[in-house]
Amino acid sequence: MRITEKLMVKDQLVSFEVFPPKTDSAFDSIEWSVRELAAFNPDFMSVTYGAGGGTSQYTTKIASLIKNRLDTTALAHLTCASTPKDKIKEILDTLKENHIDNILAMRGDIPQNFEKPDGEYYEYAYELVKYIKEYGYFDIGGACYPECHPECDSLDKDIDHLKLKVDSGVDFLITQLFYDNDIFYSFMEKVRKKGIYVPVFAGIMPITNIKQIDRIISLSGTKLPCEVSEFLEKYKDSPEDLEKAGLDFAIKQINDLLENGVNGIHIYTMNKPYVARTVLKGITR
Ligand code: FAD
Repeated sequence: MRITEKLMVKDQLVSFEVFPPKTDSAFDSIEWSVRELAAFNPDFMSVTYGAGGGTSQYTTKIASLIKNRLDTTALAHLTCASTPKDKIKEILDTLKENHIDNILAMRGDIPQNFEKPDGEYYEYAYELVKYIKEYGYFDIGGACYPECHPECDSLDKDIDHLKLKVDSGVDFLITQLFYDNDIFYSFMEKVRKKGIYVPVFAGIMPITNIKQIDRIISLSGTKLPCEVSEFLEKYKDSPEDLEKAGLDFAIKQINDLLENGVNGIHIYTMNKPYVARTVLKGITR
């Protein structure tokens, strides 16, 4: 089922993000995680796209497993910064052949020391969205940033760019992870005021260890509420307590978002079934 069709029968969706393997040898263990996660019956599962584009075949393979063998709605991520236009067309053809009808269309980032293959490229995600819209067949998602995209100098400007992207054909948005719901609510007010009315799914990444949260902060610059900073400090030498506090916080955050009418929760599962299981158990809707 397409994500827009799901939205017609359900007010609030719960979905999972997984990442594909980088090599054939890692495929089996990732397939196991994906099967475990699909058994929780999420509304859809999204599969990330490697930043350099070199492992795109695994994104399609995992998305196809989800859709065709696990009977779950699949959303394939696709980025255009490191994938030339002719390769994008090939990927759309392959996704369509595999009956994967939802794409999260993004610009992506160019990895350090990456040599771009020759060819023509889309510069921004909205151009990719326009192209996919013209191609037809797919429901199209886009990324958005409640705390502003790191390359943009103001949230207002970033939301202007978001409006252009949505008007180019986006059916729904998924946010970058965040830990302070008030930031999300204020973002939603601004987005709706700007005339962006598509459903917005909140991206939630449960904190499970210190290394992970340090990396997240350095990559996305997300702000941590005092409650989170406090448990990170308190349990810095106690990994089990820290994981429990991180999962409890995610559950609290999700329940608050659901109570306040969010269109959906997109859980960054990190391919860990126990993370999804624990969080789902705590959701009170
Ligand atoms: P865009 O919407 O193109 O925006 C990028 C920047 O350009 C922003 O600062 C924006 O304000 C600015 N901009 C946009 N339009 C214009 C314009 N017309 N003129 C001037 N400036 C403009 N990355 C991966 O490599 N693989 C993944 O699978 C992946 N999955 C993700 C999933 C989610 C839910 C999110 C939130 C991010 C994901 N990313 C992924 C990361 C994403 O690719 C990066 O954040 C990237 O830097 C921006 O992509 P975008 O599609 O948001 O870009």
